[in-house]
Amino acid sequence: MSALSLEARRIPETCIHDAPDDIVELSRALRNGLSGTAGIVSEYEAALAALYGVPHVIAVSSGAASVHAALAGIDFEPGDEVVLAPTCPICTVLPILAQGLVPVFCDVAPDSFGLDPDDLLRCLGPRTRAAIEVPMWGYPVRSDQTWTLLRERGITLIQDLAHCHLTRLNGKWLARVGEICCFSTHDCKFMSTGEGGFVMTTSAKRAERIRAYTRFGDLTGKSVGVNLKLGGLQAALGLSRSRRLLFHLDIRQRNRERLLSALDNPAFRELPQPAGGEANGYALLLQAVGHDGRRLVRYQMARGIPSDIGKYDNQPLYQLPLLAPYRRECPNAARLLRSLTTVPLHPDLDNSDLDYIARTLNDYVPN
Ligand SMILES: *Cc1c(COP(=O)(O)O)cnc(C)c1O
Repeated sequence: MSALSLEARRIPETCIHDAPDDIVELSRALRNGLSGTAGIVSEYEAALAALYGVPHVIAVSSGAASVHAALAGIDFEPGDEVVLAPTCPICTVLPILAQGLVPVFCDVAPDSFGLDPDDLLRCLGPRTRAAIEVPMWGYPVRSDQTWTLLRERGITLIQDLAHCHLTRLNGKWLARVGEICCFSTHDCKFMSTGEGGFVMTTSAKRAERIRAYTRFGDLTGKSVGVNLKLGGLQAALGLSRSRRLLFHLDIRQRNRERLLSALDNPAFRELPQPAGGEANGYALLLQAVGHDGRRLVRYQMARGIPSDIGKYDNQPLYQLPLLAPYRRECPNAARLLRSLTTVPLHPDLDNSDLDYIARTLNDYVPN
């Protein structure tokens, strides 16, 4: 056997999220009711509100549902516009279409997933109702600056933080920025309830609207709504696992530190964070220097190291048939996506996995 085959591994893409209290909370839910209006759901929402220091949390059935519901928290007419970068997953755009809104693709700032302020100004028009920041793979963006720019113009900032549970900017949770934040708790995300998500807002009025929307308009027949509620079993898992979030944050950040200190290949670098940014360790984002990053993606995947960005084909969203009508050239976005790979950092990786990843990446030659 060659040295390579002796070393070959399959690094798992995500972790098993089980927490010590899972069974305790699940059995409590089984005895006390499993609907989306059961007490366990409110307990889960309260735990998230306390963790983030934000007064209103609405648990919903998925991350996509959280974007769909967040849009119900703003005033709009069909055909109004929502600005976002074409670097996010299509999951963020489909709810915009489902709500009868029009996505406007804005370029990102160089080497960032954050909206470029100059291009954002070009994208804003009389029909703009909101912009969505979608920081990817746990790395913060300057959404605080985006918020300042939008607030002066009366436009709502939504953040899709599906990747950015517990990401910090300037010592505060990134989730404290913007009027509404959306999260996914899908099994592949930072925290898992299997399927699930939640919406957070500081506004009692918006929270009421959003909650009603997720519950058939509270059945009053006065406003439109659908059923986006999170079930009691998922909420039970959310409750037990929310207690482990800070612990997982710690492990992921330590994994990131360990990998970064072992990497010494000048062919790539970590994607820069804005000053005051603290990535949550959801994944390590590496940027190829002076060559096409898709080469690095292929190299690592052939050696058993999954790259999440491979799933998105490293292309701006307006390349997809469904979104071609909304095409608006975003050169920074296209360049950024082509330059990147992602590397897992989840808590199920042990030191020998991390050392294998570091050795493999250090052996990479772009040529
Ligand atoms: C995963 C993800 C979603 C969708 O979440 P689901 O829970 O799968 O519906 C939305 N936005 C972003 C940025 C995501 O990463």
